[in-house]
Amino acid sequence: MDFNLPEELQMLKENLRRFVDTELIPIERETNDGIDFLPGVRETLEGKAQALGLWLFDVPEEFGGLGLGALAKSVMWSEIGRTIAIPARNASIFGPRVSPILYTLNDEQKEDYLFPVIKGEKVACFCQTEPDAGGDPGGMRTTAVRNGDHYVINGQKRFITGAGEADFAQVVTATDREKGSRGGLTVFLVDMDTPGVTKLRQQELMIADRPWEISFEDVRVPVKNRIGEEGSGMATAQRWLTEGRLRHGARGIGVIERCLELAASYSRQRSTFGALLAERQAVQFMLVDMYQHMHQLRLMVYDAAWRSDQGEDVRNASYMCKYFGDEMSFHAADRAMQIHGGMGLTKDLPIEQFFRDQRSMIITEGPTEILKMALARRVLREYGG
Ligand SMILES: Cc1cc2nc3c(=O)[nH]c(=O)nc-3n(C[C@H](O)[C@H](O)[C@H](O)COP(=O)(O)OP(=O)(O)OC[C@H]3O[C@@H](n4cnc5c(N)ncnc54)[C@H](O)[C@@H]3O)c2cc1C
Repeated sequence: MDFNLPEELQMLKENLRRFVDTELIPIERETNDGIDFLPGVRETLEGKAQALGLWLFDVPEEFGGLGLGALAKSVMWSEIGRTIAIPARNASIFGPRVSPILYTLNDEQKEDYLFPVIKGEKVACFCQTEPDAGGDPGGMRTTAVRNGDHYVINGQKRFITGAGEADFAQVVTATDREKGSRGGLTVFLVDMDTPGVTKLRQQELMIADRPWEISFEDVRVPVKNRIGEEGSGMATAQRWLTEGRLRHGARGIGVIERCLELAASYSRQRSTFGALLAERQAVQFMLVDMYQHMHQLRLMVYDAAWRSDQGEDVRNASYMCKYFGDEMSFHAADRAMQIHGGMGLTKDLPIEQFFRDQRSMIITEGPTEILKMALARRVLREYGG
């Protein structure tokens, strides 16, 4: 069994490491406001990403991208995770962000929605969470009721990232509330300028993101805008969520590594009571914990990503990657902050932003407890006799 990355992925990792160290980290506090790039920065960084040959790395080859597999993407996400130069959510320098759901569209829908997104002509958002149903989408109250060649959507969504700029939304609805997440959910493509779609307000958070609350009031959506069959919504949403959870885990590797670099280096410079912090066992133990968590997470993410590339169902593995990655990267930011003392709280260093971002990651796209609940089903089935 060979645990080393294949040679081409090792090269990809080294190239990205150099790029992040030389092009991104030196300017990381000047590129963005936590949500988006500052004027002019995106274009410059996108040009550099193109020069690296990594433009559209996550778009399949048949749609003009590089079509990198899950393992290669994990290598990329973990290297980029070492810097706060790129906002943690909803921003990229490697081309427009394409929700994997859009690859499942039929040909006509692809013309209207997928291709414009890849070309950067349209922007999408994803609307699942509601005031009364977040981690449990089966309880959602937004309904889509068929009326001839249309569906009529009514309900409210909240915490929707990027809705302000979005041209259209992928809206998860209940077409059969009794069935809930067991065949009762359906996803629709809804243009944001459709009558009845109202952006109500942006939510202020401890992080810079300002997700939206949106209401849908008698919104008429043609049947041709339904994604897949009625009731296929959970499977459709899973495509987005499984990839997203691997990305959380991979990003966590990068966050832990950067926190470890900063904390180890500071502990070798800072003396208290006549000795370097690096000589204190209490500090060494914190560093060793970070190192061990990074190693465990890397093995976990690479294993899940490799299996995904072999065509295996990695839903359960992705739950583990997300919860372990988000929890341990938050812990690493917390420990790095402690080792830095007051300096850890300053905006001179990226640690305070990692701390806030990673805390929020533990909740979004599936809170830890819900992922563990899903994993418990499997554990009990497999080991419970
Ligand atoms: C910055 C940000 C961006 C977001 N972007 C989007 C987006 O673009 N699109 C979108 O649809 N949503 C988005 N969300 C919503 C996000 O995915 C939800 O907040 C998340 O799924 C949790 O839902 P909830 O907040 O309703 O918490 P709830 O589901 O109400 O859960 C609350 C808490 O209860 C506990 N809990 C819940 N169930 C269980 C259980 N079975 N056992 C034990 N404990 C449990 C957990 O600790 C959980 O944190 C975003 C949220 C934020 C903060």
